[in-house]
Amino acid sequence: MTNKPFAEVIVDISARNLDRVFHYSIPPEINVPLRAGARVVVSFSGRKVEGYIVGFSDVSEVSGIKNISEVLDPETWLPADLIALAGWMADRYMCSTVTAIKALMPAGARTTGQTFFVPADSPEVVPVALLAGLEREVFDYVCRRGKVPQKEMFSRFGGRELETVLKELGSRGLIEVVRVIKPRLKPRQVQVIELALNREECERVIKDIAGKAPKQGAVLRTVYEYGSLPAAELSGLAGTTPATVRELIKKGYLAAKTVEIRRDPYASRSFTETEPLKPTPEQEKALQRLQKAITCSRLETFLLHGVTGSGKTEVYLQAIDCCIKSGKQAIVLVPEISLTPQMVERFKGRFGNLVAVLHSRLSAGERYDEWRQIKTGRVRVVVGARSAVFAPFDKLGLIIIDEEHETSYKQEDSPKYHAREVAIARGRLTNCVVVLGSATPSLESYSRALAGRYSLLTIENRVSGQALPEVTIVDLREEMKAGHRSIFSRELIGRIGDVLARREQVILFLNRRGYATFIVCRECGLVMKCPKCSITLTLHADEHELRCHYCDFRIKAPNICPDCASASIRQFGVGTQRVESEIARWFPDARVARMDMDTTTGKGSHEKILNRFRDGGIDILVGTQMIAKGLDFPGVTLVGVITADTSLNLPDFRAAERTFQLLTQVAGRAGRGKRPGEVVVQTYTPEHYSVVYAKNHDYRGFFREELTLREILEYPPYCSLVRIVISGKTENNVIQGSEMTASKLSQEFSRYSLGITQPLLGPAPAPLSKLRNRYRWQICIRGTPGSLLRRVIRKALESQQNDPLFATLKVSVDVDPLGMM
Ligand code: ADP
Ligand code: ZN
Ligand code: ZN
Repeated sequence: MTNKPFAEVIVDISARNLDRVFHYSIPPEINVPLRAGARVVVSFSGRKVEGYIVGFSDVSEVSGIKNISEVLDPETWLPADLIALAGWMADRYMCSTVTAIKALMPAGARTTGQTFFVPADSPEVVPVALLAGLEREVFDYVCRRGKVPQKEMFSRFGGRELETVLKELGSRGLIEVVRVIKPRLKPRQVQVIELALNREECERVIKDIAGKAPKQGAVLRTVYEYGSLPAAELSGLAGTTPATVRELIKKGYLAAKTVEIRRDPYASRSFTETEPLKPTPEQEKALQRLQKAITCSRLETFLLHGVTGSGKTEVYLQAIDCCIKSGKQAIVLVPEISLTPQMVERFKGRFGNLVAVLHSRLSAGERYDEWRQIKTGRVRVVVGARSAVFAPFDKLGLIIIDEEHETSYKQEDSPKYHAREVAIARGRLTNCVVVLGSATPSLESYSRALAGRYSLLTIENRVSGQALPEVTIVDLREEMKAGHRSIFSRELIGRIGDVLARREQVILFLNRRGYATFIVCRECGLVMKCPKCSITLTLHADEHELRCHYCDFRIKAPNICPDCASASIRQFGVGTQRVESEIARWFPDARVARMDMDTTTGKGSHEKILNRFRDGGIDILVGTQMIAKGLDFPGVTLVGVITADTSLNLPDFRAAERTFQLLTQVAGRAGRGKRPGEVVVQTYTPEHYSVVYAKNHDYRGFFREELTLREILEYPPYCSLVRIVISGKTENNVIQGSEMTASKLSQEFSRYSLGITQPLLGPAPAPLSKLRNRYRWQICIRGTPGSLLRRVIRKALESQQNDPLFATLKVSVDVDPLGMM
């Protein structure tokens, strides 16, 4: 509530130079108490646009301040803390505030503007008779129709001339243009029919009319017995027509009422209720610390580092329970890929209808309804992918981020936010507890925990008491030497045979991440790296060239290995289909299923395959990343990794970290039941530290070694990275713009110390050098973490944005990018 005269409004127009607040006054006829987060309609340079109130002010230096024209439905206002969060995001991710605000809202709550032409109030004072031709036709049409939508106008009268005519009619005061802003979606409503009489009266009336009007009697009896019913259903059930129902409404026996219904995607499912499990001593210890922080609403971020199968989810569930019991709400983020029915069931089973689920496969309507459920406080827990971090709760007590190291928490489109960072920022704004959970925490999070910025909770043992699976590394170079050319090593084939004989199950994992290809020497395992960036060089087959995607270093692809002179140096890669068909050759009797993007496009197909696997209808499941995480199948005793090299040689400084995480997660799928599990990892580089530490289940060892390397090479967390992509339709402009930007940046950098030896990499063509007919170039910038780097970049970009060259280009900024495509 406010009694200040001016509202500070962010308008919904994305242009860098409009990214600031504008003042509007609050007219007396607006009698709802406005607050930050309110959505309004305002006039902006002659147009009606949507705006968001972000604050209020007593004074304003501007003159001629306009009124707020309209206030949109308070049910779709954003909570004030989210408005503050949007401000934080705009600064952190270098996007406009309105882009950040729009990311916080479900698509269904957004508005659309529609333009209409209407006759002006008093057209008779103007000499209408003087109109001729198209002017006359258009004017008559508008008068006849009263209100003509823009679309209709243009499809009827079409063309360039029409625009002039409309302008002319407007300036002569004959017609007016109105713009209406309205929500894109409405809550779904149905009409239900209910009794307008009390039950006694109703019984009497039924008796009364039964003889005279049997159909009406039947309808009344139906409502009397079933309670209120949707109109359509009622007449069907009573065996009459809607007319009979209308008749009864007219008589005042029945009444029609509109009610809002929830488009619940899980309505048709039932979930078995579960009770809290008795925590193991390690779970208990972690829980006590969480519960303490939650009950005293302390702002604290925890890193829960628990090995695979250590029962992290149970810890989440009991922490949420504590949060609900203290009257607060909780958000649980899980990677999109793990948001399986199995996962949803764990939360719905414990908290039933108090849980809302948000994920990208919901329709806009379903999403909007869930959002309203959250907003009106009808649910207390939200489980969802990335964007669920924006759930509009007002008494947030806990945010959990499961598998916090997952890259899918980073949004690829603007605003390019990272849900983990946003969660921590939101925690700070609302004083709530944040829990980051993982078996393989990101380097960033673990080093913060060690530095005392996060509280570290550790679970070292699996709940089952089962040891972590034994990992065997197979050296593919040896297979090659022995003349064994199958994609399965002899070791792996032998073990698959054993497992099948014991009627247990196998998961074969093939990493197909990214599209980048590299070359490997099959004799000695050599993979060529950039001398400057220590990044695997990517093969560009057309030019037969190897390139560094960070700094554009280029070299001819060799035909013989520079290390061992072998001619077996070639492009690397196998597909899931090939794995599947080769498996069938080795084990013709095994029941094999494949799970990857190709086989899971249909709705629910993902689930079907997994159910069949769980029920024992499949012996061997072949899959990509999709099967690496979160799956809990006790029957699986062998996991085979076809090759560790694909992720090891991603053109990314995080390649080793990704490999360690992936191997640990995949290995974690084995031996979750009563029988111990085993893992076979095939690779050309068995000596690589990420492979060795994963084999030994030694997260801390890996962490120390990787961190040292990052420090030497000046990569995150020792620096903050910003990637700028410049794209456009004309290649020359893109190159010119990139060079101009780079030199602007160097100029700025020479004035400030960014604390890094080589802050600027590039410009270079982006790995995806052409996308949807746009050429793409990139520049990477490194500086010590903090806001200085962003300020310097912002300044450089703003100084050139009015250059005509940039009118043809799009400049997109990614702060702390996770991918470099
Ligand atoms: P994580 O997420 O750490 O990999 P999960 O949460 O999936 O581990 O737990 C692994 C299995 O152990 C699950 O089947 C879960 O139901 C079970 N579990 C967890 N905590 C307990 C407990 N305290 N007592 C018995 N079973 C438990
Ligand atoms: Zn070699
Ligand atoms: Zn390089």
